[in-house]
Amino acid sequence: MKIAILPGDGIGHEIIAEAVKVLNALELDLELEYADVGGTAYDKHGHPLPEHTLNLALSADAVLFGAVGDWKYDKLERHLRPEQAILGLRKALGLYANFRPAICYKELVNASSLKPELVAGLDILLIRELTGDIYFGTPRGRRTAEDGHFPGTEEAFDTMRYSRPEIERIAHTAFQAAQKRSKRLTSVDKNNVLETSQLWKDVVVEVAKEYPDVELDHMLVDNAAMQLVKAPKKFDVVVTGNMFGDILSDEAAMLTGSIGMLPSASLNDKNQGLYEPSHGSAPDIAGQGIANPLATILSAAMMLRFSLNQEAAATRIEAAVQKVLEQGLRTVDIWSEGTTKVSTAEMGDAVVAAL
Ligand code: NAD
Repeated sequence: MKIAILPGDGIGHEIIAEAVKVLNALELDLELEYADVGGTAYDKHGHPLPEHTLNLALSADAVLFGAVGDWKYDKLERHLRPEQAILGLRKALGLYANFRPAICYKELVNASSLKPELVAGLDILLIRELTGDIYFGTPRGRRTAEDGHFPGTEEAFDTMRYSRPEIERIAHTAFQAAQKRSKRLTSVDKNNVLETSQLWKDVVVEVAKEYPDVELDHMLVDNAAMQLVKAPKKFDVVVTGNMFGDILSDEAAMLTGSIGMLPSASLNDKNQGLYEPSHGSAPDIAGQGIANPLATILSAAMMLRFSLNQEAAATRIEAAVQKVLEQGLRTVDIWSEGTTKVSTAEMGDAVVAAL
């Protein structure tokens, strides 16, 4: 099992080091190979996603990714910015399904901005289509308007677009994920206004016939945004398009209150995947040894489950994380009165000990 390890920038190196510690402690037959990505790669090789890094990612069973980005790269041309490395990897690997769990551990309920009773025990899996929709649809651009409300003035336009096969494959992914959980799936769209959403809903309903054991319901995206803060525990698996998923996954993540705890996975049809924490490179705390490594450690658990077929090892890691929280160990981002403040490395060591 070959894993490409791409630490990236900022806290990327610190959090990946702890995830690697945990992977090594499992004593599985893993081949770990490192490469530069993001701003670090731009500084050393002139490109955020050098060919060597891309080839390593393509040849690996999975990619474990830290984070990329730093304000100092903001003035670079767009195609050279660190964040372009993620888009390049998604495209090259065909990563069309993004899994974003939002789990609220009972020990951390007070980190949420919602009332504890609304979020305690929350466990949502949001599945976002990642390669289609308005972010990639063409034509797009800026031009002088020929018609509309203000002809003759500058306008900009994007194209929201989904094909049947794109919707079918993400729907299958979502139904299969739901089968492994509570067998409930909510499909989110905006079919009262958008043609793309009507096709989305029609196709999801057709695919549902192949999964009679899964209870499917549909929700408009505006209502979903509202229900997520009103009664989030009603949701189990949620599937939606790229733009709605972009927004709802951050909303769902914030219900848990602790960005340092949230893993993510992006998968292709061969179950190759890119696994990364949901947060960024946190340049404000990089190098201080205080970043929370648990999102990255939990991403490694998802990697073992989804790309490497090591369910038992994944469950062991998740149980170990649960145990260190029960022991009262906290990095500064999740610390509260009465708990023990630990560094990035101490947290990694504690997870290894709990394993
Ligand atoms: P961020 O997620 O890096 O940080 C937001 C806040 O959360 C900061 O205060 C940070 O200190 C804190 N934080 C984040 N992760 C943490 C952790 N593990 N432990 C403790 N605290 C943590 O978002 P940002 O500040 O908006 O962006 C910083 C850089 O990261 C930018 O260059 C941005 O483009 C990039 N970014 C990259 C990714 C990615 O690599 N997938 C995702 C988002 C942002």
